[in-house]
Amino acid sequence: MLRTVITAAVGLGLAAGCAPDSEAPVKVSVLARSSNGQYVPTQVELTTIEDVVGLKGTVGDLQGGARIVIDINDPALNNATEETVADVLLKKSGHDVKASYISQKDEKTGEDVLWPADFHSWNMVTSYYNLERANEYFRVVGNVKTADFEPVPKLYYFPEFIQAQSSKDPARDNAIFYPVLQSFMVLPFDQIQRAPLPLNAAVMAHEYSHLVFNRLAYATQSLPRSLSLWAQESPSMGANILKGLDEGLADYHAYGATCRSPSGCDPRFLASSFDGGPFSAVTDERDLSRGDRCMSALLYTNMLNQDLGGWSGAGNEYKLGTLLATALYQAGRSSGQEAVLQRAVVASYYDTTPATPGIFQLTELFLGDQTRFELAVALSPILTHITDLELKKAVCNEFIDHLQIPRGRLQELGVCPASATGGATCPNIFQ
Ligand SMILES: [Zn+2]
Repeated sequence: MLRTVITAAVGLGLAAGCAPDSEAPVKVSVLARSSNGQYVPTQVELTTIEDVVGLKGTVGDLQGGARIVIDINDPALNNATEETVADVLLKKSGHDVKASYISQKDEKTGEDVLWPADFHSWNMVTSYYNLERANEYFRVVGNVKTADFEPVPKLYYFPEFIQAQSSKDPARDNAIFYPVLQSFMVLPFDQIQRAPLPLNAAVMAHEYSHLVFNRLAYATQSLPRSLSLWAQESPSMGANILKGLDEGLADYHAYGATCRSPSGCDPRFLASSFDGGPFSAVTDERDLSRGDRCMSALLYTNMLNQDLGGWSGAGNEYKLGTLLATALYQAGRSSGQEAVLQRAVVASYYDTTPATPGIFQLTELFLGDQTRFELAVALSPILTHITDLELKKAVCNEFIDHLQIPRGRLQELGVCPASATGGATCPNIFQ
């Protein structure tokens, strides 16, 4: 999910007669940020598309007109199993979208380019393109295998999404990866007056990162076993930390994906959607380039003592996540090894090698006792998957200073070199 907050069916007719040639590669125009930061029509090639009208391909399948209701008082939920819970929540499964295009010859190349014919077509084809870009980041930089992206996720475009415990009205202004449905949701916008979330490539990369985290760190479980078991206990430190990792690493990879775009590395990637509107404070709260973020005694205590409801209700997973994302950002940049670090982070999600277990393997090991999944342990897979000593030392220093992980604990775990002594930015919260 992009932030803490708690209709339209898209039935667009295709211009009569001429269904465009659907097979990849297809040249289309999308709305993308140019080198000067503006969203402008940009000619791109979709390389994974199978149906350019229905916007379906190997990275996603757009569906319009869905209705999804999460109501903890729904009696049908009591009898639901992991296999049937999606059917209970999905009140209307929706239908294939239909994007409309006008085909135009490119003056320079003489090739046909599809131009979206209306706003929703622009928004939808750009959504698909942004999924494709995020997928490419995780394949090329993250080294994720193609098989890990299967099954192909659905993207519910402008669904009616109702969280009955907070409101009877459909939610708006958010983009969500929802593991129960193994699907994305892009909600209608209301108060966001700048770039709609699906046009913001970094926002879609953030959501795509949640998919990758689910596929690897949760081994594609729709109801992740570690998270659900641990969330039933109070306090729930292990669950709180998992949610913080998921959000923080989603922002870190969203930033990483911006580095491959024409507008370049952007640690304030929420700005083009949120600035000047009611969510503008979020841009600063999540700005990864701020070097002065510190774990506070209060956040640390909350991590240990809150249950997941209290932790998430206060948005604490984003606070912990931003500390982690900022620490990784600083370490990667200072050592000039950002892509190397991004790849190591993805490698830490799932690893059956006994000497370097992944996050999933550690959660399985400590399933019966989440107090053993402390922050130092939860972050150790990231460190054990960094081979370069200077980079490892830089990440250790950030963790010791900004996340206040005791240096001695990291050395006990054998994941940091003795030369890592921390930094001088943050006050010691244990004194
Ligand atoms: Zn998120």
